[in-house]
Amino acid sequence: MEVVLLNTSRDNPLLVYQGYSYIQDGSYKNKIYWKCEHSRNPAIKCHARLHTDAVASKVIFISSQTHNHGRNACKLEIRKVYDDLKQCATTEQPMNDIIVRCTSKMSVEARKKLTKLKHIKRLVHYHRKKQIKPIAKETLSDANLLLTKTLKNESFLQYDSGEESENRFMIFSTEDNLHLLEDALDFHMDSTSCQFIVPDSFSKFCIFYVNRNNEFIPALYALLKSEVSYDLLFGRILMLIPNWNPLLFISDFEIKPTNSVRRIFPGISVIGSYVHYKRIIFQRLQVIIYHL
Ligand SMILES: [Zn+2]
Repeated sequence: MEVVLLNTSRDNPLLVYQGYSYIQDGSYKNKIYWKCEHSRNPAIKCHARLHTDAVASKVIFISSQTHNHGRNACKLEIRKVYDDLKQCATTEQPMNDIIVRCTSKMSVEARKKLTKLKHIKRLVHYHRKKQIKPIAKETLSDANLLLTKTLKNESFLQYDSGEESENRFMIFSTEDNLHLLEDALDFHMDSTSCQFIVPDSFSKFCIFYVNRNNEFIPALYALLKSEVSYDLLFGRILMLIPNWNPLLFISDFEIKPTNSVRRIFPGISVIGSYVHYKRIIFQRLQVIIYHL
């Protein structure tokens, strides 16, 4: 069976074998260890693993643990298309030619699930721009280095618009948590301006939660210098997970992010969080009682 090596949306290696996808889990001498991409998904926790040779050209060992979930041929097909789009973006072909070439052989089922054309164009544009002017290492080193990696040495800082940026914003998440956000049909954003939480040079700290089995799991964090950055923030998250297409947004009653969400995801349902609703009522009551 053929081994296909792709890249994840964060440019980490992704091995596809027999309809399942695996992320790298270390290497030793002439072996690379791979684990199912759902290994750390709290709802699935799949323990399937395999080993390949040093260049990931053939599988040399498969663990006895089988996958506890089905193959997702559609998702893998879409991922392959994204990988092709990223590769082609670095060439000088016109945008429309790239999109037609990379999507023409897709199955009808996968095509239905493909993200909107404007998001695909944004992805190609982003990778084309990245090729011409890669993100400077200095930009990342401006951030607190402790926050660029997790304790497991995974990438945590996903984007930094740079210290010189007037509306600077930073995005923090892990590969697994970006998948959680991508797969979720709804998400909740909670933002705070509390001076004890937000670093001096920023004005807002936002946490994006996804609902998994009635538990809200923090999947992404963002720091914003100004509230005009929300459109840029959502646009950049879409570049990280182009297939993100939530149907429901649970708002914390902040007007600006809610308006941005409506602009970026036309037709999305927006509801207010009950916890924040109670908090607002309580704050208003305190003001009324104070003036009595
Ligand atoms: Zn699995």
